[in-house]
Amino acid sequence: MKKVQIPSGEPAGRVACQQCGNTKNFVEIAENVLVTTRYLQNSDGSFTPQESDTNIFGTVQFVCGICGADMTRFHAHFLEMSF
Ligand SMILES: [Zn+2]
Repeated sequence: MKKVQIPSGEPAGRVACQQCGNTKNFVEIAENVLVTTRYLQNSDGSFTPQESDTNIFGTVQFVCGICGADMTRFHAHFLEMSF
């Protein structure tokens, strides 16, 4: 099991980029994503999406949205804190 790294920023628990100090903008990058969407064809020949599944097979990176610094070690914390 991976250990969750708790950020030490102020206030406690906030992630801050150690390169540029950004605390607001972050980007999650998922590689090799398979999106499966089910459609129903209507009587007029048009299609209506019913549901879609997203499966991530590759790695997920978490980076600073300003300077692009790799902050993947905070990704588990990000998942716990994203609602
Ligand atoms: Zn940054």
